[in-house]
Amino acid sequence: EEQLRRLRDCVRPFPDFPVPGVLFRDISPLLKDPAAFRTLIDLLEDHLRVSHPKIDFIAGLDSRGFLIGPSLAQRLGVGFVVIRKKGKLPGPTESISYALEYGKAELEIQSDAVEAGQKVVIVDDLLATGGTMYAACELVKRLKAEVLECLVIIELKLLKGSEKLKSIPFYSLLQYD
Ligand code: 5GP
Repeated sequence: EEQLRRLRDCVRPFPDFPVPGVLFRDISPLLKDPAAFRTLIDLLEDHLRVSHPKIDFIAGLDSRGFLIGPSLAQRLGVGFVVIRKKGKLPGPTESISYALEYGKAELEIQSDAVEAGQKVVIVDDLLATGGTMYAACELVKRLKAEVLECLVIIELKLLKGSEKLKSIPFYSLLQYD
């Protein structure tokens, strides 16, 4: 609890970013403070070791999922794969478009990133509406891999993003209204 409180102190709220009316949760101080970052990875590692003893890959979401995914994967002794915004990945890819609050976006994964039957945990910094995370799950499933869990540092509870994930297991370290 003390550890979670210290992590919470490292998340900065920025009103009206990136657009008026949005309260942006900035994790920069968490990355800047080595002790806090270590605690963050410790807690995520402990959670995954207990909940999912057999993980093949950590998949990170573009772009803040890339900031925690590789460190976490190293701790667990597993590989890291990327799920990126459209147009960034070479070679054959699977892609999926999904609705944003305004307009739409597209995510991609390399077709050989994971194999059928492999067990994947998808990580990102924050779950808001859940649209991004849900699309990422669909991509992993298209490669016939299994999503063991969606894992984020921060969950914005009022947006009910975890409901969008339906039966896919979901875990967040810090919750905000
Ligand atoms: P969703 O698709 O769940 O609505 O939005 C989640 C995505 O938007 C994540 O990839 C996350 O990085 C980004 N995002 C949305 N709001 C915030 C925020 O307040 N803080 C941070 N750090 N990321 C956000």
